[in-house]
Amino acid sequence: MNAHSTSPAFKENAHRALHDPALQRALGNVETGFIGRRKSAADKLPEFEALRDSARDIKNHTLAHLDLYLEAYEAKVTAAGGHVHFAPTADDATAIVADICRRVGAKTVAKGKSMISEEIELNAALEAAGVQPVETDLGEYIIQLRGERPSHIVAPVIHLNRDQIEADFRRVHTKLPPERDLSAPESLLAEARGALREKFLAADVGITGANFLVAETGTSIIVTNEGNGDLSQTLPKVHIVLASIEKLVPTLEDASQMLRVLARSATGQEITVYTTFSTGPRRPADVDGPEEYHVVLLDNGRSAMLAGEFREMLRCIRCAACMNHCPVYHAVGGHAYGWVYPGPMGAVLSPSLIGVDKAGHLPNASTFCGRCESVCPVRIPLPKLMRHWREREFERNLSPAPVRSGLAVWGFFARRPRLYRFATRAAMGALSLLGRRKGRFGALPLAGGWTDTRDFAAPEGSTFQARWSAERRAR
Ligand code: SF4
Repeated sequence: MNAHSTSPAFKENAHRALHDPALQRALGNVETGFIGRRKSAADKLPEFEALRDSARDIKNHTLAHLDLYLEAYEAKVTAAGGHVHFAPTADDATAIVADICRRVGAKTVAKGKSMISEEIELNAALEAAGVQPVETDLGEYIIQLRGERPSHIVAPVIHLNRDQIEADFRRVHTKLPPERDLSAPESLLAEARGALREKFLAADVGITGANFLVAETGTSIIVTNEGNGDLSQTLPKVHIVLASIEKLVPTLEDASQMLRVLARSATGQEITVYTTFSTGPRRPADVDGPEEYHVVLLDNGRSAMLAGEFREMLRCIRCAACMNHCPVYHAVGGHAYGWVYPGPMGAVLSPSLIGVDKAGHLPNASTFCGRCESVCPVRIPLPKLMRHWREREFERNLSPAPVRSGLAVWGFFARRPRLYRFATRAAMGALSLLGRRKGRFGALPLAGGWTDTRDFAAPEGSTFQARWSAERRAR
């Protein structure tokens, strides 16, 4: 698996992000935009919670019978004139795509948005094979110009502001007149559209991801708001769908239920502007469509997840609601996580795909506040799964020495409840006394990670346990 670009330096990345004022301003949009829109869309649909249960059950059922649904899906795609390629690893998947491109003599590939292509580092593989990949989703196009990775799985450039994007366009679009006004977002969009139209027309192969694959019909489904996915898959003579095996759902009816929770959870829309179904290559009576249709099904560690305690993570439909509601993501953004998948879903998925030794730091980047689980449309117990990864990290001796020592000290006291209560009471009392004048601490020994960027509130004088007991006695 292509894990060589993984960065274990979460602390350093987070530190840099917290001291980047432009990034901090841009991250404000995550909180103000996504959360309210999701809530209002969910509130307007009385059956939203029931749909979440149903979405969870559909995915659980599919995962329990994944082998059968994969076979059924393959049979339907083949019957429709398409080809299914199974790719056990990232390298297998990139080799399959590169081979198809080579065989049809492709020079340019138009790509719709696909997190799987990020996971397998497809663009680098295509370039190495002499094929030019062009991202056609606006956000992906911008990060391709910048040579970056997406910082969010739905809004790849959430970390950038308008000025930065204008500067990128002026740097790369050599035909852009300097006097042209790009101050409005619409003008940036028009500029990108103009540049991309030529690429769509020139592309020999179109690559899209898939939000869902339907076993009943052999259909792949993508949701977009820009229509670029449709152009990527209908204009070129070859269409390649790149998807991971857990994207399957049994029937079109199941897919329609999943779509109802996906759009609301992701962007607060009832449905995305384009929801596109494609089944096989162009038929004789079709007015458009590709001559060849391929589906590359990526495993890359997912079969192993099926048999283990992280299986529930395979229910994920990549809506990004968990990161939109995560206080850690709000503070540091997606790039701090160091690999393709950020936020709580990445904190569980990345160690599963690339190993706890490379990504064990991610499950530690959580306050365990539980907001991620409370909004996940397929009810993945993300905090529980992160805790499992923390346990694995500890068992394998991968936790840093200060963490292990801290846990050993805590364990010593926790096994002696009386001593624990005495020590915590004494500590709370001392901190309360020391901080009573200001009501907060700007610096504290052993708490630099906290006090570097915010104050630590002085305790009120008693521990949680003492207050709880007092309240119980009073009742
Ligand atoms: S874990 Fe849940 S909330 Fe997060 S992206 Fe996946 S489906 Fe959405």
